[in-house]
Amino acid sequence: MLPSQARVLWAAAFLVTLLGPVLLSLVTGSDNPLASQLAVQTGLLATGLLVCTVIAPSRLRSLTRALGIEGVLGVHRVVGLLATLMVILHVVLVLAANPNSVTLFDPRQWTMASRAAVGATVGMVVLIGLAVLRHRVRRRYALWRWVHLLLAGSVLVLTALHIWWLQHLVNDPVLRAAFGLLVAGLLGVLSYRWVWRPCFDKRSAYEVIEVRAETEDVHTLVIGPRRPRHGFDTSTMAFEPGQFAWLRVKRSVTAEEHPFTITSCPRESAAVEFTIRNAGDFTSSVATLEPGDPVWIDGPHGAFTWDDRAYRRALVLIAAGVGITPMISMLRTLAFRGDGRPVLLLSGARTVDELLFRDELRELGDQLDLTVVEVLSRPPADWSGRSGRIDRVLLRQVLPERSGRHKIEYFVCGPSPMVTDVLLALQELRIDAAHIHTEQFDMV
Ligand SMILES: Cc1cc2nc3c(=O)[nH]c(=O)nc-3n(C[C@H](O)[C@H](O)[C@H](O)COP(=O)(O)OP(=O)(O)OC[C@H]3O[C@@H](n4cnc5c(N)ncnc54)[C@H](O)[C@@H]3O)c2cc1C
Repeated sequence: MLPSQARVLWAAAFLVTLLGPVLLSLVTGSDNPLASQLAVQTGLLATGLLVCTVIAPSRLRSLTRALGIEGVLGVHRVVGLLATLMVILHVVLVLAANPNSVTLFDPRQWTMASRAAVGATVGMVVLIGLAVLRHRVRRRYALWRWVHLLLAGSVLVLTALHIWWLQHLVNDPVLRAAFGLLVAGLLGVLSYRWVWRPCFDKRSAYEVIEVRAETEDVHTLVIGPRRPRHGFDTSTMAFEPGQFAWLRVKRSVTAEEHPFTITSCPRESAAVEFTIRNAGDFTSSVATLEPGDPVWIDGPHGAFTWDDRAYRRALVLIAAGVGITPMISMLRTLAFRGDGRPVLLLSGARTVDELLFRDELRELGDQLDLTVVEVLSRPPADWSGRSGRIDRVLLRQVLPERSGRHKIEYFVCGPSPMVTDVLLALQELRIDAAHIHTEQFDMV
């Protein structure tokens, strides 16, 4: 299925989840005054939005392939914010429909249903506050993530209890069936994400084959599927060049895991490679892994790849630092397939030592129609290449003439500030956004 078709299907699934219960409540009808009906409908909409917020980041491969990780997280944030606003609107309408509901503000008069509602609402507001603080707690991201997950789980349970204890919705057979489907779908997705994939799916079990030093603080981790147990087929992972996977070095579902781009070429061998720069505790520990050590991966994910079924265009790959990892997978794949389309690679780094895969890029240059432009921000005195930043001026100089720029697919990868700058520069050069793909190595 084409990613564009998958996007349409996912949009339809989200719309059904969102609007299904509301439409059913309209069809089953009610003699209640308008304000009461609106209160119920905003409550149903908030529930649908909450379910979509939870499903979006549940690592469903077809969804991350259709939207990309940035798209998935964008949907998660926007829909989560809408869910919170809808809950607030729901509370306002409940108060408007029945002035006696002001007891909501008096804890002594809370029923079980109102306790659950207050808990869920407070939880959602705290979740929004935590989301805003996300970038301030970079170094404590693992802790932030667990607090976020536990709060989100509590909000879900409290919402379900609120609906259950209110009774009037679940007493309606049609709405009961709709809620049943919603709960079954959600439990299915959550068990797949949190139980089946990490604990039982043997295709995620790999072992270290080799750890290769690329530079002083960058290592390539080569892993292969662990031997099949009980005859289970652990055939090689089917991924597209540019996709990534989450990596764990412990089996437990609560173990720390981090996303890394797969740098090897799909279908070339059963081994999978990641090239990882020491950025903190987890990435530094990669260099200490030994052949035979077990690791677990969750992937492939992401839409940072081209699709020859939709179009076949020349490529401009713009990378900074370790952001070259998806590009090397793309170039290895083109060489493996004997694909001679023109490719321009802009590889940015601070120093010469930080430029990755230089020897291999020279070799790939013999097999591909490849032009490599290296750009250093801290060049040595004898550097004859480009220096400075990858910006509009440089892009103007190295990209083909204006008419040719529109027949190209652009891929930009690296730290968030660099991706944002290059994206702006490409937009200023009037490149069609539909042909620009970005991957930010930001917290996910
Ligand atoms: C889609 C994607 C693909 C990536 N591919 C590569 C790759 O091929 N090679 C590579 O070296 N790095 C890659 N990264 C970045 C890599 O995930 C982080 O460097 C790594 O998670 C840092 O973990 P740490 O514990 O060593 O460092 P920490 O000390 O925990 O964090 C150091 C910095 O890394 C970032 N970071 C921390 N946790 C995460 C997380 N869960 N997700 C993303 N960023 C995080 C934060 O900005 C933080 O400031 C990729 C990131 C993304 C989102």
